[in-house]
Amino acid sequence: MSNDLKAIVLLGAPGAGKGTVAQHLLDNFDVIHFSTGNLLRNEVKNDTEVGAIVKSILGSGDLVSDGVVNQVVEVNLERVLPEKRVVLLDGFPRSVDQAKFLDTIFDACLKNSMKVIEIEVDYELIVARIVGRRVCVLCAATFGADDKIGRCSRCGGELVRRGDDEEEVVRHRLLEYQRITLPVSAYYADRLIKVDGNASREIVLQSVTKLAMELGL
Ligand code: AMP
Repeated sequence: MSNDLKAIVLLGAPGAGKGTVAQHLLDNFDVIHFSTGNLLRNEVKNDTEVGAIVKSILGSGDLVSDGVVNQVVEVNLERVLPEKRVVLLDGFPRSVDQAKFLDTIFDACLKNSMKVIEIEVDYELIVARIVGRRVCVLCAATFGADDKIGRCSRCGGELVRRGDDEEEVVRHRLLEYQRITLPVSAYYADRLIKVDGNASREIVLQSVTKLAMELGL
């Protein structure tokens, strides 16, 4: 199966630990990172037409329209798909329409060419994790709720909560995730592998490593 595997889609609610899992896979396996968040931020940085459209949306927690994201994905995916390495899709698809669009990009052997990993975490745990998170005002290092420290352990800077980490904002993002993105996992039922993300970071990453090896990465 590993020979046919072209892409892995990483799904999970905001705060489920997708970023940590993506970084772990990048550090330990030969995969190409394909993050729509990064691609869109690059469009803004490069002052492109797309960048002008998405500038005010990025960082607001709202989603960019399917049409704009799909266009950016198509252009960039066609560039990396011919490579022999597996593409790790991080942050895409975030709606069923995007998932359907992705299916049109892949070829006929689609079912064997991609797998979907969903990191499942209880919403209350996500809220507690994000609301407890602190960021250093000087060096931007992030500290979890379990790091019981008053100041940044790297540079001594003051630790504050990020604006979009307020409980109300987090709950709004989770509701939006439930409404728009969660149906994507039902759409992928035949290619879906669930990982329990409620455990400690170490245990979750162990499960991910085992899974990646089973997938032949
Ligand atoms: P991320 O880095 O994945 O958290 O993405 C940052 C922001 O980019 C998101 O909050 C959205 O505004 C936008 N974005 C990234 N990927 C998508 C997507 N697949 N669909 C819609 N908006 C997206």
